[in-house]
Formats: sequence, C-alpha cells, structure tokens
Amino acid sequence: MSGLRIPGGLVGVFALLAAIGMTPAVLPAAQAQQESAILFRNVRIFDGKNSALSAPSNVLVRNHRIEKISAAAITVDAQVIEGGERVLMPGLIDAHWHAMLVRPTPATAIAGDVGYNNLLAAAEATDTLMRGFTTVRDMGGPTFGLKRAIDEDLVVGPRIYPSGAIITITSGHGDFRQLSDLPRTIGGMLSRMEKIGGSMIADSPDEVRVRAREQLMQGASQVKLTAGGGVASPFSPLDVATFTEPELRAAVEAATNWGTYVATHAYTPVAIQRSIAAGARCIEHAHLMDDTTARLMAEKGIWLSTQPFLDLTAANALGPAEQDKMRQVVAGTDRVYALAKKYGIKTAFGTDVLFSKALADRQGAMLVNLTRWYTPAEALIMATSTNAELMSLSGLRNPYPGKLGVVEEGALADLLLVDGNPIDNIKLVEDPARNFMVIMKGGKVYKNLLVSETRR
Ligand SMILES: [Zn+2]
Repeated sequence: MSGLRIPGGLVGVFALLAAIGMTPAVLPAAQAQQESAILFRNVRIFDGKNSALSAPSNVLVRNHRIEKISAAAITVDAQVIEGGERVLMPGLIDAHWHAMLVRPTPATAIAGDVGYNNLLAAAEATDTLMRGFTTVRDMGGPTFGLKRAIDEDLVVGPRIYPSGAIITITSGHGDFRQLSDLPRTIGGMLSRMEKIGGSMIADSPDEVRVRAREQLMQGASQVKLTAGGGVASPFSPLDVATFTEPELRAAVEAATNWGTYVATHAYTPVAIQRSIAAGARCIEHAHLMDDTTARLMAEKGIWLSTQPFLDLTAANALGPAEQDKMRQVVAGTDRVYALAKKYGIKTAFGTDVLFSKALADRQGAMLVNLTRWYTPAEALIMATSTNAELMSLSGLRNPYPGKLGVVEEGALADLLLVDGNPIDNIKLVEDPARNFMVIMKGGKVYKNLLVSETRR
C-alpha cells in the first residue's frame, strides 16, 4: 500500500498494467480511501469466543482494523459512537450461502437474464449485510463479479468466500438439465448453468481437474463438489453417491496445489466417507450420517458445515418430489447435531437459503434454531469465531487475510452494536432492523441508528 502513495510508483503500476492489457479498476478506490478512526465508547463486548461479556469498555477502530480495546478511556481524535453499555459483538458469518440463488426462482436462476440476476443478487447482498451477516461462504453460484463489486464498495454487501460453480456429475446434485437436453455431445455444448458459471458437469478425473482449476483461476477460495444426491436437483436421488474417489481426489489435488481445500455436499455415510478418503476437508450438510461416520469425521478433524432445518419451509419453492427429499433431511437434523456434539466434531453454522426472500429474512432466526441443541452463547460463538476458523481454511487463497469473527485488537473491524444482550436473549438477532444499532464491516459504518454521535 505504501508504495501506491508515491506518485511515480503509482504511474509505474498503471504503466505496467496498461502494458499487460489490464485496467487498474481497483487501485484508485483503494488509494482514495480516507484514514478513519471510530471509537465505540462504553460498550460491553461479546468477543466471539467467551460467553461472558466484558466490563464496560472502549473500542477504537482505525481504518479497517480494531486498534485498541480498553476499560480505561481512550483519548484520540475519532468519530465517537456512544454505546450506552450496549453489546458490541463480531459480525455474523454464514458458512453455507448462495448469494446468486437466494432471490430468483429456480427458473430465473437457470434461464433468466444474467444482468437481472446479478442486480437481484446485489439487492440481496445489501439485505444480507443489513441482517448483520458481514461474511458469507458461498457454496455455489457465479458470485465472482458480485464479490468484486462489494469489495470495491460499488455494492453494499458481505465479504464473500466464493466457490464459484458447483462441480457435479451427470445427473448429480447441481445438474439442472432436463431430459430433453440429453444426450450431451461429448466435448461439445455446455448447458445453460455451465455457461453462466452456476454449476459444471464433470464425468472423469480429468474433467474434474479442469473445472476445479477454472474456479480457482477465477478466484475461488475453496472448491465445492457434490459427492451425493441433493434436494433441489431434478434427477439426483438423495441416497446416491456420485463422484468416484479418483474424481474427488482430482479436485482435492488441484485445490491443495492452490493452497486451499475441497468441501463436498454429502448427506449419506458413503458420500461422506468417500469424500474424506479423497481428502476433502469439509462436509456440507451430513444430515443422514451415522455413528461410524461421525466418529471418523472427529478423528480426522474434518469440518461439518450443517444447517438447522427444523421444518419444510426451506422446500416451499420446490416441487413435491423435492419436498419429499427435504422431509428426510429435516428428519435427520436432530441426529446430525447430536452426533456432532457426541464426538466433538468441528461444526460450522450455515443456512443454505435457496430461492426465497422470505426465508432469507429468517437468516437470523435460523441461528436461533441452533438453541435446540446449543446454548445461546454456543450458537453465537459458532456463527462468529468458529465459522471464521472455517473461513481461514482457505489458507493461501483467503481473500480477506486477517482475523474475522472476534472482537480483539488487530482483528478486522466487522462489528455489530446490539440493543440488548444477545447471550441472554438470542432472539434479538431475529429482528436485526430493530436491534442492530450499528453495522460495521471493515471499519466502515453501513448502518447507525444512534443519533448521539459527536466528535471529541
Ligand atoms: Zn447449498
């Protein structure tokens, strides 16, 4: 950064970029960013790790990081936000999100206008941030453009850890073709979902390798494959195992070479166990897993990224066959959390909202659902520091290096000021419009309902 402040150096960078045919779209905005200092005065801190709140404290945010936390007064030239002993906590993280698939109908997502779908996703991204979710791990969909626009502050939204296209097999979860689209010309036409980068169909280790590397080339922070059947796909029964172990391993090798990992969508023991054997580091869903598989996950330190589905609302936008599959998943929810707790599996919280604005509005309520198995503090810790730990599994491909999900000195300043104590009353997160007084991401205030700001 400091190099960019030297005019000669900047000209040099532009000249270099021009010489290789790139437009330096990001640089002027980054350079123009003003120094900022914001002081949260008199707040009690939920730090994302401990269930006890701090004593009344002061938190200084300089630029995009938390610079200082102190019970003593901090005297500095800064914009002051009077906390009034409200609770300051880390921004929430959703470990299983689909930024491009929340708002459209299935038909619009697949066959709709790409420009419209992007604008729809941008509107949803703003709402996502306004629900207090400052980071999402996107588990499939063409989000690279949206992520860039958010990072450049053209669009208001959360940090996105993108997977890019879901990689699937013919007839697997993520193959949204109709039977009339068959047979596929080998080496020929791409389906509509492939053309827009929503999902890629790969039927050999070599094809998997190409598709995985294409996602990494576009900036994927992790690679997502569907190792078993899924709810929302027309031709994948829930019970099937899809990729072979060598196919899964091809993706794992590509991701490992790139410094990151593979996450697989898998409900059943066979799909989960095959994923683990191939080297996947994170299992999405796992609602139908058994005792042996749970023990294996714990032993190998494999992440479980699952969702507290308690009813069929998540399937409302789907047809009867899909609703039947959803019923099996919902029935497995109690079991997956019981096994996660029994074996101490590293467990992340996500919502996996698809095709429903109404459901997205309940993103915070889904977090509250976790209290069926966890204390409110445990649920909040999972959605902040634990989820952040999963984000950092992206290692060298982490798009946001720095600490997320905690309130501590040096961490990235993604913060919520809550009107009340969410540890005592976790239901506060169900109504973010009313209860989240301040929403900050990267040190920038995106919402502030407090009027008592002054400059000292
Ligand atoms: Zn999903």
